[in-house]
Amino acid sequence: MKPSSTTDTGQRRGRKTAPAARHGRLTGIFGGSFNPIHCGHVALAKALLGQAGIEEVWLMVSPHNPLKDERGLLDDHRRLEMARLALQNEPHIKASDFEMGLPTPSYTWNTLQALRHRYPDRQFALIIGSDNWLVFDKWYRHDDLVRQFPIVVYPRREAAIDPSQLPRGVTLVEAPLHDVSSTEVRRRLQTGQSISGLVPDAVAEYIQRNQLYSGK
Ligand code: ATP
Repeated sequence: MKPSSTTDTGQRRGRKTAPAARHGRLTGIFGGSFNPIHCGHVALAKALLGQAGIEEVWLMVSPHNPLKDERGLLDDHRRLEMARLALQNEPHIKASDFEMGLPTPSYTWNTLQALRHRYPDRQFALIIGSDNWLVFDKWYRHDDLVRQFPIVVYPRREAAIDPSQLPRGVTLVEAPLHDVSSTEVRRRLQTGQSISGLVPDAVAEYIQRNQLYSGK
């Protein structure tokens, strides 16, 4: 998002309060298609715990968008199952199907509103990569998102951000940069190569057992 957006957040006006008063456990929402979840996603979620006050991370597995051509996107329940397997030993990180019960397309604003309504004893923060922050002003109700939810930005390659330009309530955190993507995992599976080390073992076993992504 461009620095000029700071006017909308109150930073230039010197407002002292954070966008939302803190109450309840701060839960970071990390959305994606997770097709499939990989070690980069898990490492990132782990690194975020304890930063910017985040006590739990919920991976929001996005449902199929009927308005988009999403060939190659595995069924919702399979992607969710793999995310749950990947996180089975992480008590503070959960894979959530919450968005799957909401109308599509899933706008982040709508998801966060629904979460807030459903879990009034928690506070939610939005977790996004720096690449997404750079185009954040294209997001639906981006001003309201910045005003109403803490936003936690993690670094992505080729998307440098100047922390001094961030509006109040938006925090740049440290996180490892892992060279792995779901695209690469799928590509390897389609060409019969090993995915060892790219996804958690339980996910690799699930993929193998169910012959996923192989194009067979
Ligand atoms: P694809 O290759 O299918 O586009 P992906 O690997 O980028 O997928 P997504 O499901 O789109 O995975 O990921 C959700 C979020 O995880 C993205 O917004 C992205 O910023 C982040 N992410 C993806 N890969 C990594 C990684 N290696 N390290 C840190 N964050 C990642």
